[in-house]
Amino acid sequence: MRSRAVLAFGLGLALFLAGCGDPARNPSQAAGPMPSAAATPPAPKPTASPRPSRTTPPKPRLRPLPTTLPAGLHRSTGDQAVALTFDDGPDPRWTPQLLDQLKADHVTATFCLIGSRAKRYPELVARIAREGHQLCNHSWRHDINLGRRPVAEIRADLIRTDRAIKAAVPNARIPYYRQPGGRWTPEVVAVARKLGMRSLHWSVDPQDWDHPTAKTIAKRVESAVRPGAIVLMHDGGGDRRPTLAACRHLIPELKRRYGISPLR
Ligand SMILES: [Zn+2]
Repeated sequence: MRSRAVLAFGLGLALFLAGCGDPARNPSQAAGPMPSAAATPPAPKPTASPRPSRTTPPKPRLRPLPTTLPAGLHRSTGDQAVALTFDDGPDPRWTPQLLDQLKADHVTATFCLIGSRAKRYPELVARIAREGHQLCNHSWRHDINLGRRPVAEIRADLIRTDRAIKAAVPNARIPYYRQPGGRWTPEVVAVARKLGMRSLHWSVDPQDWDHPTAKTIAKRVESAVRPGAIVLMHDGGGDRRPTLAACRHLIPELKRRYGISPLR
């Protein structure tokens, strides 16, 4: 009997064998009181655990994205001069280089800042403001679906981002909001307006986020730019060497042809 018990244990069968003589060696007994020998069922496998619940939290309901851009977007400077806008920073690798270049060319731009990054790099936000550039709220964590969420959530996100910027620059003026991905809804435009921000879209997008060469970025801007254009580029969110290289050519060129002015 004893050898059978050892065999059973060795096979992991955890069967309770009544009267086998050495209860201390019986793993089942260590786990607790056992039913009578006559009705011994196989013990549950010790590794068995409840199945993970299938009730994952329901996905938040997003309102549908409108098929056309909502009213109230700022898409032109309103005069001859073009405006340069840079999104997704601040970034310690690229933003300082871009600021150096803008300074060397004596132009100012608009920086659409991600709140969590502004919190992380307050000294860059301070430098952007100190050098006369315009500030724009670009949401806390670049949520492209933000405009589709409940209004209270949109509001909280924009306020949090404004606060991070103002923590770096206490008297910062943040006259613009730009929706990540350009996925605007009337609701996000309305929330931004109530918080004192105009909704800043663009008219020229060279798609530098898709990592084309510097030459391609410059060509795309030059072929699409018109008087009053708002040009979208990026100083954060990836390797921005092509954008910086394109700007070395573009900034003097746009300045000569149209003038570059900050957004009012
Ligand atoms: Zn962005």
